[in-house]
Amino acid sequence: MLVVRRQAAIALGSNVGDRQAHLTYAMERLRAAAEVRVLAVSTWYETAPVGGPLGQGAYLNGACLVDTTLEAHALLDLLLAIEQERGRDRTREERHGPRTLDLDLIVCGDLQYDDARLTLPHPRWTERLFVLEPLAHIAPDLVDPRSGRTVAQLAAHVRAQEQLP
Ligand code: ADP
Ligand code: MG
Repeated sequence: MLVVRRQAAIALGSNVGDRQAHLTYAMERLRAAAEVRVLAVSTWYETAPVGGPLGQGAYLNGACLVDTTLEAHALLDLLLAIEQERGRDRTREERHGPRTLDLDLIVCGDLQYDDARLTLPHPRWTERLFVLEPLAHIAPDLVDPRSGRTVAQLAAHVRAQEQLP
């Protein structure tokens, strides 16, 4: 059987409970998955919440780069299962509201999808410094298949925009 390996970037975030414990758990689960090899993990960044209800706590955000033989939807299922294991219950939460653990699939090789379960590359990642900044440290040359730009280019662009008056 032909096995396809792809590099995937995953963004991690938490702003409820023991944030570091949730993120550490997620990395342990990814390292334990037979079809996933973790290539790099960023440090964790404290960031202000973007959107969502007023008054929610600060996030701890980071990113990792993996090598995987999982098909993209199967990788998403793994991420959603890990979120649930940390008590995440989407039926009870507001959009962009507080969450114990948020795992987003950012890019997976050069795959592009837009179906009921998965949008790939992640629809908003090229505007989000809390995703671009950690990724720029571990995978600056990773290419966004939608724009053809590298993470380093995308991060520089958003940093420059945020410095405008
Ligand atoms: P967000 O991360 O944008 O705040 P959620 O974490 O609540 O939103 O995710 C909502 C749904 O988005 C998930 O159930 C998942 O099926 C879907 N989704 C679509 N594309 C992606 C992706 N690239 N990464 C993660 N989830 C995705
Ligand atoms: Mg999410």
